[in-house]
Amino acid sequence: MIFDRENSTLGIMDDIQFAIHTYDGCAKGCPGCIVDTHFKTKQRFQNILSLEQMQTIHKRVTEYYDWAKINLNQKKFGYFGEKGFKVNHYSYTFRFGNHSELPLEELIQISQTLDSPFKVFSTAPTDDVSKFYELTKPENNPSNSRFFLEIIYDPVADDAQYIRKMILEMRKYNILGYPEVLITKRLLEKYSDPKKFVDECVAPIGDIETQMQFGRYSPSKTRNFNTKQVVPLDTEVEWLAGVAHHIIKQKLNIHPIPIGEYAVTFLDEYNEHHFQREDGTIDIQKLNQSDYIEEFNMASVKEKTRDIFMTSMYIDHNLDLFIWSESMGQHVLDTNFGFPKLGNIIDKPIHEILTEKNGVLEKMLQHNMTHLMKHKKCSSCNYKSFCSSHAIPFFRKFHDDNGKHCYGYLPVIREFQKDRVFLENMIDGFKRLEF
Ligand code: SF4
Repeated sequence: MIFDRENSTLGIMDDIQFAIHTYDGCAKGCPGCIVDTHFKTKQRFQNILSLEQMQTIHKRVTEYYDWAKINLNQKKFGYFGEKGFKVNHYSYTFRFGNHSELPLEELIQISQTLDSPFKVFSTAPTDDVSKFYELTKPENNPSNSRFFLEIIYDPVADDAQYIRKMILEMRKYNILGYPEVLITKRLLEKYSDPKKFVDECVAPIGDIETQMQFGRYSPSKTRNFNTKQVVPLDTEVEWLAGVAHHIIKQKLNIHPIPIGEYAVTFLDEYNEHHFQREDGTIDIQKLNQSDYIEEFNMASVKEKTRDIFMTSMYIDHNLDLFIWSESMGQHVLDTNFGFPKLGNIIDKPIHEILTEKNGVLEKMLQHNMTHLMKHKKCSSCNYKSFCSSHAIPFFRKFHDDNGKHCYGYLPVIREFQKDRVFLENMIDGFKRLEF
């Protein structure tokens, strides 16, 4: 290991993350948005979930957390376990719409009913984020939770300076905000030049040390599986590599997630630092011939992937349970994207759904593994274990990566790897984030 990741959560899971479908209202209409049009029009300014539904969710989540602390943390092998990582807390992420539109009383009710040490709300860039300042006040926050805002940032329509100001203001109230950019055709039409994108849309926020999330657009049922905004993967990879190059070149104080994190994972856990040249590039040939390439152990990779899936989930408005993928865009793998529910939590505890023999989770895991073993690009690739835990096979359902590049986004990772100081700064940033 070359990086000191003690107390940093970069590339380390210690949180059980639950995304919850609380709100879909939004005044904007960004292309590629995944909010459900039904809820967007019919349940504007109201929480999608009733108080009773939220209480059921919280009961199930807390009982699952108690189960996981024993059953995941004491496993003999896998990602979590006696010798592995430990689950230390759980968090809620409230998605997908602009939660700043909700009345304060509803936000307080969500926050207090679905209580956890860390709470993340999605929001559009708006002055109404000031409602969240109220949430942090002791009388509204008896459990002393920390708050984070995912700011849905559409660089075609939103002003980067405004977002900068908003993030700085939020910090006065101990709320961290990070912008999320969805890569769409519309975005790349305006910013086909990565330098222009970095200059105009990233650099204005690039001196205040914030995370910035990049996500891949995927067609969804609520948008009739419209593919108009899908960016071909090769275009996306090359564009993102250009973005990475300019972020590094300008020494921006920004943490691009998840793609920047992967650079650290590959250098440390895949031993690539042993083969890094002075200019930061990796001698792939030497790496591939070395003893550092671990043999692919199907049983072990499957177990680790299971652990990752079991600590990153989504509960929708029917209280159906789904996997929430950790890969580009952090997609919830729900019916909107054409995936089956794992089960419903009204009558069944979460751990029973997840550990069901021949259940949906088991089938998805099996598909994930078989796919990687057989795929023409992946079968001989050294990064299968990485792509397994990031649920890469499921992305191929939306758009095949049958061109020059693949969902491993390797050229982007290679750019970030060139600057260790940049990566160290990112690791420190994750220490401050705490989860
Ligand atoms: S998606 Fe790419 S990096 Fe991942 S296993 Fe397949 S070929 Fe390798």
